[in-house]
Amino acid sequence: MLSGLRMKIISDFLGEMKRQSERSRCLHFEHGSRCTEHISAHSIQNSGQLTEISENGHVYKINGHFSTLKKTGGKPAPKKIGRNDASTFLGFCGTHDTQLFRPIDTIPLKPTYEQVALYAYRSLCREYFVKENAVRTLENLKGHEALTKEKSEFLEAALKGFGIGFEGLIHHKRHYDNAISNGKFHEFKYTVFIAHSRQDLAFSGVLYPHFDFLGRQLQDLGVEGVPLDLITFFSAPAEEGWAIGIAWHESSDRYCREFLRSLATHVYEGASLDDAILRFVFSCCENHAIRMSWWDGLKEKSQSSILERVRFMTSLECGYDPRHLCVVLEGIAKWEFGHVLSSD
Ligand SMILES: [Zn+2]
Repeated sequence: MLSGLRMKIISDFLGEMKRQSERSRCLHFEHGSRCTEHISAHSIQNSGQLTEISENGHVYKINGHFSTLKKTGGKPAPKKIGRNDASTFLGFCGTHDTQLFRPIDTIPLKPTYEQVALYAYRSLCREYFVKENAVRTLENLKGHEALTKEKSEFLEAALKGFGIGFEGLIHHKRHYDNAISNGKFHEFKYTVFIAHSRQDLAFSGVLYPHFDFLGRQLQDLGVEGVPLDLITFFSAPAEEGWAIGIAWHESSDRYCREFLRSLATHVYEGASLDDAILRFVFSCCENHAIRMSWWDGLKEKSQSSILERVRFMTSLECGYDPRHLCVVLEGIAKWEFGHVLSSD
């Protein structure tokens, strides 16, 4: 049973996280006095994608949030949410959100370099918003009256970890801001997979690639002062069907290319691309929306495997398993990939 003091830390932590997530700001590279009307921006497009996969205006989100885990005994669970509430964050003002993202919100992914850059930027800004909130929350909890010495040390370690991750995002955002504000969209590199099946899953996220699809270590996480290469990924409506994009700025070329090469080798050696992408999405991303009838139609075994993967991903074990992108979640996705498009 949780002690009163521990309950107080948890409720203060959740309250602080909520306060931070409700603190609106504009992350556009030209933010300033024009940013008066802050909005609940969609990190996954509302029109085009969420509309496409929602049923009666709703989608599922797999909820690995602490408050859910407390109710379910530690297991993540799908939660029905309104389409308009899916994937939103208070990270842009209305003017900048509408202006900047018009080429992806009103036109299906071809892809052009500009479209890829904008999808990557939106994924990065959402992560920036979330990580900045986490760092501020932990900073505000430092010195909490109910913290034991052991808990204080744990909080310090968590703050250090989040701090390194967030410093990296600040570094990458500078590159992205600079490239996009100057129209240098060709600085973004990509691989886009076009799928002709119905879209059942929408997502966006970023990752510092640690291990690849062959179980090899790429970069060493947790080294202070060394910016890590960053990859972004997203789903998108395409001219024919829908698409899964993986994109990065050229400053992250080295490990991102290696990461993609490992996926190609993995598939060349006989693995299924559908399996690999589904595993990647549920292993590396907590920002997704799921078509309800697709989820309800899955075998119970498949549902539990996905939920177990989400639990694993939110646990501390995940980052240390070199093979976390090599196996599991086979035979669930049936996406009928048509063709693959890559930058030069
Ligand atoms: Zn703005």
